[in-house]
Parts: sequence; structure tokens; C-alpha cells
Amino acid sequence: MLEVHQFSCLQDNYGFLLHDSATGATASIDTPEVGPINQALADKGWQLTHILNTHHHFDHAGGNEELKTQWQCQVVGAAIDAERIPGIDVEVRDGQHFAFGSAEAQVMEVPGHTSGHIAYYFADAGIAFVGDTLFALGCGRLFEGTPEQMSVSLSKLMALPDQTTVYCAHEYTEANAAFAVTVEPNNEALQRRVAEIRQLRAAGQPTVPTSIGLERATNPFVRADSPGLQGVLGMVGADEVDVFAETRRRKDHF
Ligand code: ZN
Ligand code: FE
Repeated sequence: MLEVHQFSCLQDNYGFLLHDSATGATASIDTPEVGPINQALADKGWQLTHILNTHHHFDHAGGNEELKTQWQCQVVGAAIDAERIPGIDVEVRDGQHFAFGSAEAQVMEVPGHTSGHIAYYFADAGIAFVGDTLFALGCGRLFEGTPEQMSVSLSKLMALPDQTTVYCAHEYTEANAAFAVTVEPNNEALQRRVAEIRQLRAAGQPTVPTSIGLERATNPFVRADSPGLQGVLGMVGADEVDVFAETRRRKDHF
């Protein structure tokens, strides 16, 4: 049985501990901030055995070396980005499966935010850690990739089962919602969700995790096929990569 423990780090990052109760294996998904990660381990009484990195940015891999020194844990990261993942021990590639305790993880290469970004999918538990690729009502900025790459990456994630629980690495949802309603004002599922998000945030609650099905219904970055979105952008019938690129461009200037 896998358990996820979620907590806040830095300004708006989330830390996640993933724990396999059968073996005691415990992973930190990325290492945004050492102090809160160690506090979370202490709170749960878990021993850190793994770090699973999604990408090289400092708010994701900045705590690798300190935690590795302290815990002698194994650092897993993308083979194609190995030189930028501090302390990497195990290099993984797209489609590769590896054992995490008694569970099985699957690696998905999802470039776009960075060229070496990966996601971790645990099919049996129905959970995915997507880093800065997919956010609730948003997606990562294209720092190192093309709209086409990101569009393919998001499609890969959207091919997971609807009920998959999606852990994204930042609480950006309120700002994403403010943008989403401008490009899909007539999406009723989005309107309902925005009301829920406002309530959650007003109560100091996280909007993460989300799910694949919820994003498919409400996130403009995975809705390039939506006639409503295409209409607002003046791109009815346009290529979906172009619609995605224009949506991303508008968000960058929002
Ligand atoms: Zn990042
Ligand atoms: Fe980040």
C-alpha cells in the first residue's frame, strides 16, 4: 500500500513523501526544501530511502545533496538529464519500470518545461507525480522545450486513466483559474471548479492533488480540441499544437 504525505515548501511548492507500508521504502518526490522534508519524515516516523527527481530546477533538486548525505538515500532521475541532477544514482528512461518497495513505478519522459523533465506513474495505486509539467488548470512554462514537445507530453499524461490522482509541484491554481476563464468562459465544469478553488484557497486548503479527468474537463492547456477555446482564440479548426501554443503564449502575457 502506497501512502502520500503532502506538505508546503518554499513560497508555493509542495513536497510529497511516498511511503510503501509493506517495506518501509520512503521517497521524497523532488527536494524543494530540506527542513520541511525532514520535519515531514519526523512527523510520519518514516526513514528516507529514495529521492525521485522530476527535473533539475533548484526548487526540485536543490535539497538532493544534503538529504543524500544525511540519509544515504538513492537518487533517481532522468538519464537524459543526469549531469544536471545532483547526486544521481539511478538513471531512468521513458517507459522504464522500476521497483519502489513493493510497488512498481513507471517513468514518463515529458519534456517541455525542461528538456529532461520526467513524471512518475504508479499504475496500481493510480497516482502520478508530474512535477512542473501539468498543473491544476495550467502547465509549466516552456523554458527548454517547444510547444509541440509540451503538447505531446501533456497528451501522454492525458492518456492515463481519468481517475488517476495527479500531484503537481506548485500551488498555482488560483492564478491559473483567473486565466482559464478568460479563454473558456462558457465551460460550465470550469466555472464550477473555479468556485470550488476560491473556497478552498479562502480556507487555506490546497487545490492539489487533482485528477486526469478533472484536468481534461477544465484545463485549457489540454483542451486544444475545444470549440469554445478555439473560438475565443480565433482559431476554429486550427491544428491542436498551434492552439496549445497560442494558449501558452497568452498565459505568458496574462
Ligand atoms: Zn521547474
Ligand atoms: Fe518548480
